[in-house]
Amino acid sequence: MPELPEVETMRRGVASACGQRIVRLRWTRCALRPLAVRPNRRTIGSRVAGRRIVQVVRKGKFLALVLDDDSALVLHPRMTGLVLVEAPPDREHLRLELQLEGPGPRRLLFWDRRGLGTVEWHPPGSWRQALGPPRLGPDALEVSWQQLRDRFHSSRRAIKVALLDQARVAGLGNLYAAEVLFVARIDPRRPCCRLCDAQWRRLHRAMGRVLREAIRYEGSTLGDGTYRTALNRPGNYQNRHRVYGKAGRPCPRCRTPIARIVQQSRSTFFCPECQRD
Ligand SMILES: [Zn+2]
Repeated sequence: MPELPEVETMRRGVASACGQRIVRLRWTRCALRPLAVRPNRRTIGSRVAGRRIVQVVRKGKFLALVLDDDSALVLHPRMTGLVLVEAPPDREHLRLELQLEGPGPRRLLFWDRRGLGTVEWHPPGSWRQALGPPRLGPDALEVSWQQLRDRFHSSRRAIKVALLDQARVAGLGNLYAAEVLFVARIDPRRPCCRLCDAQWRRLHRAMGRVLREAIRYEGSTLGDGTYRTALNRPGNYQNRHRVYGKAGRPCPRCRTPIARIVQQSRSTFFCPECQRD
C-alpha cells in the first residue's frame, strides 16, 4: 500500500500541476528517517529548478513528473508516501515541497510517515528506461492476457506470491492481488505453471475490473488512515473489499467464512469454497 489504484488516484489529483514551473524545491527539515534520494538533494535541486512540468505519468506504483527537458522526478510512495497538492495530513512527516508558479496549484508535496519512499531524478531521455525492465514489467492495466500468461506460466511459485513481483507485472500489492484472485475464482496457492489459458483470461479480466473499480472509488484507506488522495481526502474503495482483511466473515458469493493464510510472511485472504480453481 499504496498500490496501482492509489497511485493512479494521486496522478489524477496532481495532473493539474502540468504546465506549472518549478520555482524552487525545498527538502523540509524532518527529524525522522530520511528518504532515499538519488542521485542527491543538491543535484536534484539544481536540475529541476526553473523547469516546467509537462506530464505526470504513472507506471505500476511509481509516479513520474516529466519536465520540459525530458528529465523526470520519479516518486515512489512505497508504504506510506503521499503526493499532494493540498495541505498534508501533518507537517511533521512532510519531506519535499515543490514551489510552483503558473495558473495551477502553487505547490506539490511529498509526505511520508514511515520514510520508506524514494525520490529519484533521471537525466533527459532516461526515465522511461528507469521505469522499465529489469525493474518493472508491463503495467497491470496495459498488459494483455497472453503477456500475463507468458510472463508467469513457467514459474512454480504460488500465483498470489508471483503477482506481487513488480518485475513480472507492475502495480499489484497484497490487497489487490487478493481481491483479483477472488473475482477470478482462483486459489491463491495454485502454482503459476498449473493455470490454463481459460484461467489466465479470467485472471486478466478480473485484474482490469478490480483495478478500474478501485480507481473509480479513489483507492482504499485502511484502518491506519494513512492513504489520502492528492486533495488530502480518504479513498472509498475500502468499503467494497470482498475478501481483504475479512477473515471469518462470510464470503460475499457463497457465505463460507473467508480464510486467512500466510504466504511469504504476508497475509492472504480467500474463500476456500469458491476459489478452488
Ligand atoms: Zn465463496
